[in-house]
Amino acid sequence: MPDATAVPDETAVPDETAVPDAGPELVDARLLVGEPDGLQRLWTPHRMVYIEGENKPSDDAAGPGCPFCRIPSLPDEEGLVVARGGVAFVALNLYPYNSGHLLVCPYRHVADYTDLTDEEVAEVATLTRTAMRVLREVSHPHGFNLGMNQGDVAGAGIAAHLHQHVVPRWNGDANFLPVIARTRALPELLADTRARLAAGWPTGPDDGGMIAP
Ligand SMILES: [Zn+2]
Repeated sequence: MPDATAVPDETAVPDETAVPDAGPELVDARLLVGEPDGLQRLWTPHRMVYIEGENKPSDDAAGPGCPFCRIPSLPDEEGLVVARGGVAFVALNLYPYNSGHLLVCPYRHVADYTDLTDEEVAEVATLTRTAMRVLREVSHPHGFNLGMNQGDVAGAGIAAHLHQHVVPRWNGDANFLPVIARTRALPELLADTRARLAAGWPTGPDDGGMIAP
């Protein structure tokens, strides 16, 4: 069995059939099965849970079957919770369009914007505003998409529990990948994004009545 950790021998006679040497990784990779084709690979194992429908509720009921009901009961790190308010909370989207894609949700399991109380409307708005400020501070996006998809027909993934999307945008982030391959390239792991945004979230009196996580 070849030693995969061996350093290539610089003094060896070049092998005419060898793949051009692009460093130790490629030398090691040649010991494995496959033909180099010059294409880069994006490994996106998180997509598999999406494809398999994990976290997708089987019905419209409130409770543990609904991810937005379940998330607030989890520790912040586990639920990817960035901030908790009195009647609404902010969490990272497990299936982000971009790094830092946040969801602002009422704790109450309600589907329609017109079902929200005045207090919930106000806090969802305040948390959305703070989310934009924190993302600007932490990630320097060039713009945002804000919005709610109301109903399955409008593209709501989980229509039964209202959620406001806060999607930071950067120039050039909509490249061929999402358009052609329905794939997003995310340069940062969710846990790291959550930690950075939670650390940047204000806890003072001017933050819309937020309770520090
Ligand atoms: Zn719910």
